[in-house]
Amino acid sequence: MPKTLRLILGDQLNSAHSWLQHTNDEATYLMLEIMQEQEYVMHNVQKILAFFGAMRNFAHHLTKAGHRVIYLNLDDQGNEQDLEKNIKKIIKKEKIELFEYQLPDEYRLDEQLKDICKGLNINTGVADTEHFLTERMEVHDFFGGKKRYLMENFYRHMRSKNHILMHGDEPEGDRWNFDADNRNKYDGKVPLQDALRFDHDVSSLKKMIDKMGVKYFGGFDEEHLPWPLSRQEALKVLEYFCEHLLPHFGTYEDAMLQEHSSLFHSRISFAQNVKLISPAEIVGKVISHYQSNKNKISLAQVEGYIRQVIGWREFMRGVYWAHMPGYDQKNFFGHKTEIPHWFWDGKTKMNCLNKCITQSLDEAWAHHIQRLMVIGNFALLAGIDPDHVDAWYLGIYIDAIQWVEVTNTRGMSQFADGGIVGSKPYVASAAYINKMSDHCKHCHYNYKARHGEKACPFNSLYWNFFDRNADKLEKNPRIGMAYVTLKKMKPDEKEKTMLQAETYLNNLNEL
Ligand code: SF4
Repeated sequence: MPKTLRLILGDQLNSAHSWLQHTNDEATYLMLEIMQEQEYVMHNVQKILAFFGAMRNFAHHLTKAGHRVIYLNLDDQGNEQDLEKNIKKIIKKEKIELFEYQLPDEYRLDEQLKDICKGLNINTGVADTEHFLTERMEVHDFFGGKKRYLMENFYRHMRSKNHILMHGDEPEGDRWNFDADNRNKYDGKVPLQDALRFDHDVSSLKKMIDKMGVKYFGGFDEEHLPWPLSRQEALKVLEYFCEHLLPHFGTYEDAMLQEHSSLFHSRISFAQNVKLISPAEIVGKVISHYQSNKNKISLAQVEGYIRQVIGWREFMRGVYWAHMPGYDQKNFFGHKTEIPHWFWDGKTKMNCLNKCITQSLDEAWAHHIQRLMVIGNFALLAGIDPDHVDAWYLGIYIDAIQWVEVTNTRGMSQFADGGIVGSKPYVASAAYINKMSDHCKHCHYNYKARHGEKACPFNSLYWNFFDRNADKLEKNPRIGMAYVTLKKMKPDEKEKTMLQAETYLNNLNEL
């Protein structure tokens, strides 16, 4: 083997990778904390510290296993703070003959590494990350050039292909999808359990990023970072989820409670997205736990979770690679409104948004309905520029890496792709938020009113959204009912509703 430098990015912490199964005197592993990655968007401080904490643990694990590692801390004197400059400098210093990297999951880094390799005068190579269940272009090939991708078709293909929850060719329980059983409000019938949280003291890392002038937002107790930062901790999160949360996960998957942020969600997405744990391991463990506990756990709980891991997650990655570059520029509705300032501090009288945004700032995490049906729903109804919405989501959440963020935000939540990911925009009035949460009963606004002094903004904005986008949406067969209702609305009622929406749209910062 020639003298080889192997780059491991901050979201490639996969200790099961074939590179790492044997030590080799000729291989050096390179890991970098660089300003470049802190500056492409402003991040939540927890996200920065969790990445650095997990990367340092991983480097320590590699060294302990006998691998040769070069790890540059953000404040190391010789750190050039730029991927290309650091790689070139180390290749020269170490007299490297071959440079290798693993396929990045972000288009931005993929392009940069291809460019870097073109400028090196040594051989280069690229390896798969060995993490996902699908190849980058598998979703693209599966849909064979179709304009709209239907996740359900891909999900069934994944179930069959990987023999997950199958009896021969048929789905276990004779149904592919238990989605209809996953839409309950929390009714207090089963006790709530908190997700497993850790207690990492990251105060010295925090001092380092402050010294280096890293810009960030969000705040938290830096002696108690709750996220899993090692493989062992990721496995504990999974074990805890199966034991305590999985039995009710599916039933309350879409429910929201203002005093309990995670209900029965696993909060394993950070560990999964930095590859401390693989989707195959998660699926294997969840199914084996279900099989040994069928008296306690129903199929609907398990299927709902498996659908997220082998369905949505792989599907979104496939959409990303099928449509990049360009997907991150899509703006189907031409929305141009500035993001309201209260997205950065949660200070709005709308209780659902106040609670979901404050939680996102404080915990760097929210579950999918909080992200999709409260925050994203409002952003879409209010016509916020998807560039602003993307930057906010990409920065704020602990698990946000562009491949998964942009497809969920710009695609599913904002319908800015015009319907590649979703067959219709995910918008709802206050009735949905009231049905799925306890936010409305504590709110300044009246969830039942469309217009009037304290009318809930979601209501008039909902009808205004359909009215102003009739040319783009009216013919969509999945939306027909909204336009039937809008047409039946009495002229006086419609006028008052549209006037109310206009007032709100002109005063978004005051809501
Ligand atoms: Fe949100 Fe409207 Fe309910 Fe208030 S009334 S919590 S703004 S949906």
